[in-house]
Amino acid sequence: VLLLGHVDTVWPVGSWSEPWRRQDDRVSGPGVYDMKGGVLFIVWLLDALQAGGVPHPTLEVLLTPDEEAGSVASRPHLVEASGRADAALVLEPATPQGDIKSGRRGAGEFVIRIRGRAAHQGVDPQAGVNAVAEAAHQVLHLLELDDPVHGTTVGPNVLRGGTACNVVAESAEIRVDVRTWDLAEMERIDRAVRGLEPHLPGARVEVGGGWNRPPMSETGASAELVRLTVDAAARVGLALRAVSWPGASDANIVAAHGVPALDGLGPAGDGAHQPREHVLTGDLDRRMAMLYELVTSLREFSRSG
Ligand SMILES: [Zn+2]
Repeated sequence: VLLLGHVDTVWPVGSWSEPWRRQDDRVSGPGVYDMKGGVLFIVWLLDALQAGGVPHPTLEVLLTPDEEAGSVASRPHLVEASGRADAALVLEPATPQGDIKSGRRGAGEFVIRIRGRAAHQGVDPQAGVNAVAEAAHQVLHLLELDDPVHGTTVGPNVLRGGTACNVVAESAEIRVDVRTWDLAEMERIDRAVRGLEPHLPGARVEVGGGWNRPPMSETGASAELVRLTVDAAARVGLALRAVSWPGASDANIVAAHGVPALDGLGPAGDGAHQPREHVLTGDLDRRMAMLYELVTSLREFSRSG
């Protein structure tokens, strides 16, 4: 069983004047919810298992340092660990409603580079090919791929191009955020973006980038993992639900390599990536106990179900 987490946070050094604050049932701090709390859960779990002497499956702990940045350097390690694991438990935080995450949207970033031809805007603009104008056509085309009904979003959110107002723009670049719930939508978007054709005669369109996390959906074995988790939660007095969550995490990567994965097993709280980030202390002990119950119930669990 792979226990997965990340030690990086989105916060630059020094961005919190008060790195630890406790008020009633809330503890605030940079990364306390996403996901230092979950990393602590792993430490507590290993301590408890060692002290208790209870039989448990072989555990592998993998803590990555670059999850928030897309896990570029961690990816080969995640893939390698996936080859050994029958199940992955991801200690990212529970949702603000306290739910665990059995599905996650896939995400990617495409970079579309456009080449036109420079010319003097005042003397012979018709000799040029305007890369900014070409980019404008491509942006509108990209927006047509958006499909809110299926939860597929396409966001051309960065656009750069041209050099000076009196020069026909020679180049432009569009960066597009893409997210989908399932593989069919992922393939549809991939085909469409990679197949973008220039609109203006003489313009060239080159597509780079791609998916950094494929969607994670509930399979037979991961549905069984959900059932075992809900059971474990009930044994310690927690009513737990599993939901699909729009954000991506390292869970997407291991799930894409055939490992039944469950995410959101860390503390409950709210405000990830925001100054109001906090965990709730009220049910920390029960969530910890649930993790212990779950892990010790996975001795016979196999990825083939
Ligand atoms: Zn996280």
